[in-house]
Amino acid sequence: MNIPQSSNPRVVIVGGGFGGIALAKKLSKKDVQVVLLDKHNYHNFQPLLYQVSTGGLEPDSIAYPIRKVLQGYPNFFFRLANVQEVKTETKRIRTNIGEIFYDYLVVATGSETNFFGNKGIETKGMAMKTIPQSLNLRSLILENFEQALLTDDLHERDALMNFVIVGGGPTGVELAGALAEIKKGILPKDYPDLDTRRAQINLVQSGDRLLPAMSQKASEKAEKFLEELGVNVWKSIRVTDYDGKRVTTNTKTIFEAETLVWAAGVRAVGLKGLDGEELLSRGNRLRVNEFHQVIGLEAVFAIGDVAQMETEKFPEGHPMMAQPAMQQGKSLGENLVRMIEEKPMKPFVYKDKGSMATVGRNKAVVDLPKFRFQGVFAWFVWMFVHLYFLIGFRNRLVVFINWVYNYIRFDREARLIIRPFKKQNKVERHNLMRD
Ligand SMILES: Cc1cc2nc3c(=O)[nH]c(=O)nc-3n(C[C@H](O)[C@H](O)[C@H](O)COP(=O)(O)OP(=O)(O)OC[C@H]3O[C@@H](n4cnc5c(N)ncnc54)[C@H](O)[C@@H]3O)c2cc1C
Repeated sequence: MNIPQSSNPRVVIVGGGFGGIALAKKLSKKDVQVVLLDKHNYHNFQPLLYQVSTGGLEPDSIAYPIRKVLQGYPNFFFRLANVQEVKTETKRIRTNIGEIFYDYLVVATGSETNFFGNKGIETKGMAMKTIPQSLNLRSLILENFEQALLTDDLHERDALMNFVIVGGGPTGVELAGALAEIKKGILPKDYPDLDTRRAQINLVQSGDRLLPAMSQKASEKAEKFLEELGVNVWKSIRVTDYDGKRVTTNTKTIFEAETLVWAAGVRAVGLKGLDGEELLSRGNRLRVNEFHQVIGLEAVFAIGDVAQMETEKFPEGHPMMAQPAMQQGKSLGENLVRMIEEKPMKPFVYKDKGSMATVGRNKAVVDLPKFRFQGVFAWFVWMFVHLYFLIGFRNRLVVFINWVYNYIRFDREARLIIRPFKKQNKVERHNLMRD
């Protein structure tokens, strides 16, 4: 990999997401050599992916070059690499661009969409975990409307304008709200010759309330906001399959829909060599102790979505969210230095700063540790927090300008089919990859 030898210990971080970047920044001025490996050369701000899918933002305003984060630090090295295996006995990592030795390894590979083994949903449904997937979804939504204009078959037209979003967590709620706003504000102007009132946005949640990780009040308000926007909220219904045209559920309810978005689960991204049964907990997460050390492996650590630290307050591990990942990155940065200096490490304690979700224009729900509020003020708080945590001044500025513009003009101008997406291709690609 052409990384120079150093007298400092080498810390290899796999993953430049929220956790990996926070850790890298914490180690920036320390006497360690940091090698960051990621299969993408950018950091992806996942909380705003739904805005890319719905034409509110361009993808480059929520992505940030990892090399730029590390600029100016002589002990830092980035390699665009897909990590394939960890060999803990020899402390080596195998990647698609070669092998590398580590003194300390940090796994920060995040999570991926979990289809729970349902091949129909995986091959014919849409996921929204990466920027390419969000662009695919954006194209599909727009292509569906173009197609709906062309068909004389009313049944087919309705299916093209029928959207089923599975999962009533923040991703599902935010996407449903954004689609409902498009239906209300943009479709009638873009497609005056199409009866867009027939477009349906269905949000399907298996549990009995939306946003189950938030307060009861937040759930109720989010549901009310969505219903005001015209979203059909289906609770206590589980989607069981999708054949590309028909969504079946565990009840008699069936949806005829050309688009199903699966936002109903994630699981940790594992690495070969760290996949022993004793290392993994539910959801494929690596079991770590209070210092982020993978159980039984002194030189291997895990942070963020991929790590499961079981504590009294969080017996199932910390929530798979950006805040725990960032806090864990910072805490591990301090602990690695302490470890190298042979000082005792400090156990990680998660400071819950609250959670929030936006439902659309002027509508959001916010649960802070001491206060809970919903509505317009919550919406401003949501915007401020997301701008604050976006990486890069340019990205913040561009997103801010876009939001102001969209707010004033009731518009979303990034509704562009840059790279056409056909579900049929997705099925073929999936089969190819499997073969
Ligand atoms: C649509 C959506 C909306 C969300 N909204 C919110 C929200 O509003 N608030 C919130 O707190 N959280 C939200 N989350 C969750 C949040 O984004 C994650 O919890 C967070 O990104 C986890 O950080 P991480 O560092 O563990 O992993 P990630 O940020 O996912 O980063 C993992 C990195 O590892 C890299 N990687 C993976 N495997 C390999 C490999 N084999 N080789 C090399 N590189 C690899 C990936 O390319 C990626 O860059 C949302 C997630 C999604 C998908």
